[in-house]
Amino acid sequence: MYKPKRVFFEKKALEYPLGEKLYELFQDKDIETKILKSNRVTGIPGESSTEKYVEGKKTLVIRVRKNQEFQSCKPSAHYQLPLMSGCSAKCEYCYLNTRFGKKPYTTIYANVSEILDKAEQYIEKRKPEITYFESAATSDPIPFEPYTGSLAKTIEFIGDNDKGRLRLVTKFDDIDGLLKLKHNGHTTIRFSINSDTVINEYEHDTASLEYRIKAARKILDANYKLGFIIGPVITHADWKEQYKDMLQRLANGLDNKKEEKITFEVISHRFTSSAKNRIIEVFPKTTLPMEEDERKYKYGQFGYGKYVYKKTTIEEIKEFFKDNISTIFPKGEIEYII
Ligand code: SF4
Repeated sequence: MYKPKRVFFEKKALEYPLGEKLYELFQDKDIETKILKSNRVTGIPGESSTEKYVEGKKTLVIRVRKNQEFQSCKPSAHYQLPLMSGCSAKCEYCYLNTRFGKKPYTTIYANVSEILDKAEQYIEKRKPEITYFESAATSDPIPFEPYTGSLAKTIEFIGDNDKGRLRLVTKFDDIDGLLKLKHNGHTTIRFSINSDTVINEYEHDTASLEYRIKAARKILDANYKLGFIIGPVITHADWKEQYKDMLQRLANGLDNKKEEKITFEVISHRFTSSAKNRIIEVFPKTTLPMEEDERKYKYGQFGYGKYVYKKTTIEEIKEFFKDNISTIFPKGEIEYII
């Protein structure tokens, strides 16, 4: 279970039950707590880029989210549902690496009820349409859930709302607190899974594949909608054998439940130039394949492009996952392979 090294509080956060609860909870001699004097977060140590990154990951900041609009989250949902931002894991390829600065601490919002009130306003506005929210757009909320209970509260809120739906994705297994909730089938929990090589080499401080599969089985038994994101798919040596083995272990782990409808999203590895620079800075010995010559440059919507696999490789990835998912999970639904 994730244990922070330091937890900083915005003064106003202590006016909310969650802020107060966390303040009490982290009064532990091994954990530094302090009340911030201003909006600026200071006091996270570190000399080198790697040290700064590591110390950032050990830091929580408890804040109040202002009444800002939720950001859109297309295509997977209509809006992000911002309970927190940041993540305790250290995946080398993480899309958040260029987002949270040199010391990527995790922010947890104390005013959950106000955030859910805001979500309700969006649901009301879109009625009679259903409104989808994504609660893991800028974080993996699961490692913090045993401390916060924010997700549990959100799942029950959405479960109680006919026109609300929630999605989230995780690489962790701390999900026991979610199993008995009244979710009403309105929440889809997806697990991000990968080959042994990718997990062992690049997904530092996440749950093992076995633990993710065990957690997925519990989620299915608790009647949640279940999905898997396979990604980033990396075509390392023996990738086909390893991804096939991963799918087979998943099917075995879900056992007799494998006939249930389970969704799959498959995402091939891609990187931007700024992400590559940042990864090399923080993980100087990285073996992540980021040779531009071996990729195709794909122009992005907002001017900055990404290096994706070449067409023949993408086709191979598509064919491989289509064939194997349909064979191993005959009732599985592939949402997309990109
Ligand atoms: Fe990033 Fe997800 Fe890994 Fe967290 S678990 S570091 S959000 S890729």
